[in-house]
Amino acid sequence: MADNMAVPPASGLLERLEAGPVICAEGYLFEFERRGYLQAGAFVPEVVLEHPELVEQLHREFVHAGSDVVEAFTYYAHREKLRLIGKEHLLQEMNLQALAIATTVARDTGTLVAGNVCNTNVFAADEASRAAVRAMFEEQIGWAAEAKVDFIIGETFSWGEEALIALDAIKQTGLPAVITLAIHQQPETREGWSPEEACLRLEEAGADVVGLNCIRGPETLLPLLTRIRETVKGHVAALPVPYRTHDEQPSFQSLRDPAYSDLPGGRPFPTALDPFVCNRYEIADFTRDAYELGISYLGVCCGAGPHHIRSMAEALGRTPPASRFTADMSKHAFLGVDSSLKAHNREYAKEL
Ligand SMILES: [Zn+2]
Repeated sequence: MADNMAVPPASGLLERLEAGPVICAEGYLFEFERRGYLQAGAFVPEVVLEHPELVEQLHREFVHAGSDVVEAFTYYAHREKLRLIGKEHLLQEMNLQALAIATTVARDTGTLVAGNVCNTNVFAADEASRAAVRAMFEEQIGWAAEAKVDFIIGETFSWGEEALIALDAIKQTGLPAVITLAIHQQPETREGWSPEEACLRLEEAGADVVGLNCIRGPETLLPLLTRIRETVKGHVAALPVPYRTHDEQPSFQSLRDPAYSDLPGGRPFPTALDPFVCNRYEIADFTRDAYELGISYLGVCCGAGPHHIRSMAEALGRTPPASRFTADMSKHAFLGVDSSLKAHNREYAKEL
C-alpha cells in the first residue's frame, strides 16, 4: 500500500477526539518563508496561487509525518494582509485554492480538512473594528463551509473578544470550532483575561476545542495549559512554537541573541530564530507532558517541520508512514553497533 493511503474513511473531529488524541500540523507560513516562496514581514501565503503543487506537497509531508488534520493554508489570507501587498483582488481566489488543495489531500489520505481564520490585526475593541473583523471572518468562513471542510480553526487571537467573534461566525455554519489563543509575554489576553478565563468563556460560548497556539514554546506554554485544563470541561488544544522560550523570554518574539542585536527590533524573531529551535526529543517530551495533563488536540505551530510532527505522533504511540525512517543510530558507520560495521570505525568515533 502506498504511503498515506492506509487510513479508513474519516469520522469527524469530535468522534476522533473521543477515541484519542488528534494531531494538527501548523506552521505553513514559516516553512514556506524558509523555502523561499513567501516573504517574512508581510507573511502572506502567495505560494497558494503561485505554486499550489508545493502547498499540496507540504500538506502530504505533514500527513506522512502523522498529522490527522490538513489545515487549509488561509492563514493571513484575509483582506487586511492582501491590502498590505496590493493584492486584495486575489482574496477569494487564494482562499478557494487553499481550501481545494487541502481538501484534495485530506480526501486522499483519510485525514480531516480544516478551514482557518486568524487574528485580523485590525481588532481594537471598538464598534467599528468589531464589525470589520466580523465581516472578514464571515467571508473566509463562508468559503470554508462551501468547500465542505470538516471543521474550522480560529487561531492566534491575542484578544479574547476577537476570538469570540470568530467563534460566533463559525457557529453560524454548524461546523465544529477549534479556537486557540496567542498568549504573549504577559500571561493574559489583550483585554486582561487570564488564559483559563478566556478559554472558559469560549467554551461556554460553544467552542468544541479551546486552548493555545503559537507565540510560546513548550516550556512556557505548558504552565498556562495546566491552568486551562483545570478550568474547562471539554477538549483542550496545545500547539506551541518549537522554540526554546523560557521564563525570562517567554515568547518567541522576546527571545534575544546578543550576536544579532542589530536585527529589526533588536530581536532574532522571525528570521534568526534558528539557534533556538527545539529538537524532536523536546517536542516528544512536550507531547507526553501535555497528553498526561489531559490535552487531546496537539500540534506544532510556526517553525514546525515534519520531523517535529513525527516525533509528536510517536510520543503518542503511533507509527505514521514516516516512522519507517525514524533514526536508528545502530547502523551509523562510526557511532553504530551493528555487527556488519567495521570495528576500526568505532575507534575513529572516539575522535568525532
Ligand atoms: Zn504560529
